Amino acid sequence: MAIERTFSMIKPDATKRNLTGAITKMLEDAGLRVIASKRVWMSKREAEGFYAVHKERPFFGELVEGMTSGPTVVQVLEGEGAILKNREIMGATNPANADEGTIRKTHALSIGENSVHGSDAPETAAQEIAYWFSETEIVG
Ligand code: GDP
Repeated sequence: MAIERTFSMIKPDATKRNLTGAITKMLEDAGLRVIASKRVWMSKREAEGFYAVHKERPFFGELVEGMTSGPTVVQVLEGEGAILKNREIMGATNPANADEGTIRKTHALSIGENSVHGSDAPETAAQEIAYWFSETEIVG
C-alpha cells in the first residue's frame, strides 16, 4: 500500500480533558507519523467552513458550537494507507458502536463529543490539509 497523508483533529472535548498526548500516542502506536501539528481555537466561520458539507444536517449548530468551545489540535498524519488506518484507529462516529481499543471507544463521550476527526478519502484529506496548513508547515 502507498504512503499517504491524512488530516486529523483532536477535538475540544478531548483537549479539555488533557488527552492530546494520549490520543497522539494511539495514532503513533498504530504506525502513523505526525508530520504537522498545531493547536487552534477555531472561529465560528472556520468551523462552519470546515464542516460546510454538513450544513443542512440537524446537528450542524451543535457541531459548530462544540468545535468552537475550546482548543483543537489539527494534525497531518503520514503512513502506509494512512487514511483508512486512521479511520480504523478512530473507531465508529458514535462511540457506542466503536470497537474496543479504538480512540472513540476509549475516550469519546457521545456522538457529538467524539474526540477526533479523520479524513475519509484522498480528496477530502487533500482539501482538509490545505484548509489548515501551508506546505511549509508540513515536515515529513
Ligand atoms: P466522522 O467522519 O466519523 O467524524 O462522521 P461524520 O462526517 O458523519 O460527522 C461529522 C461529525 O459530526 C461527527 O464526528 C460528529 O461529531 C458529528 N455528528 C455526526 N452525526 C451526529 C449526530 O447525529 N448528532 C450529533 N450531535 N453530532 C453528530
